Amino acid sequence: MYGWTGKILTVDLTGQTSEELRLDADVYARNIGGKGLSGELLFEHFCREWDDPKMPLVFMTGPLNNTSSPTSGRMTVMSRSPLTGTVCDASVGGKLGTILKRAGYDGIVVTGKSDDWCGLSISETGVAFSNASHLSGLPVSDIHAQLSAAPGMHKGAHAMVGPAAEQGVRYAAIVFDGHFFAGRGGLGLVMAEKKLKFISVTGSLKTDIYDRDELKAAQEEIYRLVAASPVLTGDLGITNYGTGALYDLMRSRRMMPTNNFRQTYFEHSPSMNAYAYKKHYDTKKFGCAGCHILCKKVGAKGVIIPEFETMSHFSALVGNTDLDAVVAANRICNEAGMDTISAGVALAAYAEISGQELSPEKLLGTLEDIASGRGDGAVLGQGALHFATESNRPEVAMVSKGLEFPAYDPRGAQGMALAYATSTRGG
Ligand code: SF4
Repeated sequence: MYGWTGKILTVDLTGQTSEELRLDADVYARNIGGKGLSGELLFEHFCREWDDPKMPLVFMTGPLNNTSSPTSGRMTVMSRSPLTGTVCDASVGGKLGTILKRAGYDGIVVTGKSDDWCGLSISETGVAFSNASHLSGLPVSDIHAQLSAAPGMHKGAHAMVGPAAEQGVRYAAIVFDGHFFAGRGGLGLVMAEKKLKFISVTGSLKTDIYDRDELKAAQEEIYRLVAASPVLTGDLGITNYGTGALYDLMRSRRMMPTNNFRQTYFEHSPSMNAYAYKKHYDTKKFGCAGCHILCKKVGAKGVIIPEFETMSHFSALVGNTDLDAVVAANRICNEAGMDTISAGVALAAYAEISGQELSPEKLLGTLEDIASGRGDGAVLGQGALHFATESNRPEVAMVSKGLEFPAYDPRGAQGMALAYATSTRGG
């Protein structure tokens, strides 16, 4: 079968066993990629609750992973969301999708629940389970460093959950390779509920390609179109400034969610845009396996620069004008392993309902409280809607189906509004 390995790894954490699932060719044929295939595999379980041990957590590649196709390093994670109760999918970059194909698998379907924190190691020669209790409570960067330092793993890929998932934060993320997040909908909490702390993968197999000349021609066409795109590779585009390049675009279109969506224009935005980060932190680019756009940015001293959504929600949405506080807020969320979009919207609801201004100290302190389940952070970690409902102000939560809105005001992006309304995932 071209583009696929033809094998999906099914893992039962309760008995710590694994098998290989081989689907009929027509199942692959009727699903274009990882999202469709994940949905097909989840379909028979859609009545299960998110914390039912039999509810699968699916990691799925597509036929282009592990080929030379541009931006083909991404994969899908899908399960039922603890935040919304609906089927939820997250698209994530990094290199695990690519390496998983090299290990000989199109995807992983995880069910069951381990007694203790465990890790799953996958290679082309086998599958191994290990105790991962020593990683409990550690920040994500420490977990990633330890996994990468294991023998033979420096070229491997890793997915992990951090302290926020252990604390039951309903928007806990799964972190891939230290910097890439399956962030939306709390899929990290699903993984933590199964007591699965990490997945590590190594491999060296190649993916069979049906027509190399056609793939090369398509690749060249994509390179040409990307090179011609001002938004992607223009002087002020995403390659140079990261997804933060969208910050000015949202400002100019008056679509920047401000003050918990009560305004759509943030007067301080000119000093909080991607140009300000580039100047202040002397940013360099990096990105997912197989990508030439390289939209991620890191400062000269190793500071991770926030993505657009994070830049916007930790400034305009919560009324913060301190660039360093945005970077620090991003770092707290990244190290705890939680979604910055949901955290930002929960904080904005908190500010509106409590009538408090979020100074940089208050902003960062409340995020720490969410990550560790302390004080008001415990209820904020259950999501903006849960917090606002507990406060008898459910209308203050800016969500669709319980999932917090990202940083494009849907009143200016009606196609997105339609997507929020019709998708199972929501905001
Ligand atoms: S680096 Fe950015 S543009 Fe490239 S695949 Fe990853 S997320 Fe997409």
